[in-house]
Amino acid sequence: MPALGTHVLHAQKCFDKISPKIALDRGFVGAAGISHDTFGLMPVGGYFACFNAAHDEKTDDYFLTLIAYIKSEKLSAHANAMGFLYGQIMHYALDTLTHPLIYYMTQCHPAKFFVPALGAHTMFEAWYDVQQENAEKARNSAFERNFAYTVKVSDGGINSLIDTVYDRVYGLKNAAAGYEKGIKVWELYGKYLRSWMLSHVKKYHSDFQSMLNEQEENFLHPVTNETLNFSFSSAYSTSIDLACELIAAADDNIYNGADNEKVLAAAFSNSYDTGVDWRIPEKKRFFKGYEG
Ligand SMILES: [Zn+2]
Repeated sequence: MPALGTHVLHAQKCFDKISPKIALDRGFVGAAGISHDTFGLMPVGGYFACFNAAHDEKTDDYFLTLIAYIKSEKLSAHANAMGFLYGQIMHYALDTLTHPLIYYMTQCHPAKFFVPALGAHTMFEAWYDVQQENAEKARNSAFERNFAYTVKVSDGGINSLIDTVYDRVYGLKNAAAGYEKGIKVWELYGKYLRSWMLSHVKKYHSDFQSMLNEQEENFLHPVTNETLNFSFSSAYSTSIDLACELIAAADDNIYNGADNEKVLAAAFSNSYDTGVDWRIPEKKRFFKGYEG
């Protein structure tokens, strides 16, 4: 979900549940949780193409390449290298588990969120981002709106890791510079566009609310057509457990030399968009026209 605040808060919630082998910076892991979405508003330099590709292709390859790079460059004691890996995993867990519901719901509440270039999906996620922030503000008086941008992943001493992994897997050059520029573009969006978008769709608050499916009504998985009935909040908490499991499996490989590449490849093989194996060829059929 291209909504930065949601991913940062989610990554920090995951962070509080993991047991890392080394001391990590919570703020850095939160920023790393933005993951590929950093490139989501950058039409030039191949970044936007990579934003799409990284959500939908070679997801397993991306994580195995990242883990292999950390091992070959002996970065397992490097807080930001490990924090970057964990942030990527947290993003993967949240996207793969919530997107089938979001795609289904935004498909069922179509064109009335009429900012055609953005679409219901994007509007829903921007709306949800603000709900999360408001809830956080109510809990924590020190909360700052711009918390997502206080830590720059590109300042973390791991630019060659970021550049190499994105280049090897997606052929993207200068990915670390993209992380830096992408955050600046998101800052502009946060400042100027988001509040306009939200005031525009204020009257649809209850529609957005019902898209969270807190009543756990049946809906169909947009790819498998399977009948499901989970709510957004239950998928959200499952994603925290999934992130912890995947991080433990990655740690087992990195720190204990576990021979679990096949298990990791299977665990990371889902499209961030559909939540099913990215190789399933007909999956786009169900998404046609619904993508935000
Ligand atoms: Zn995403």
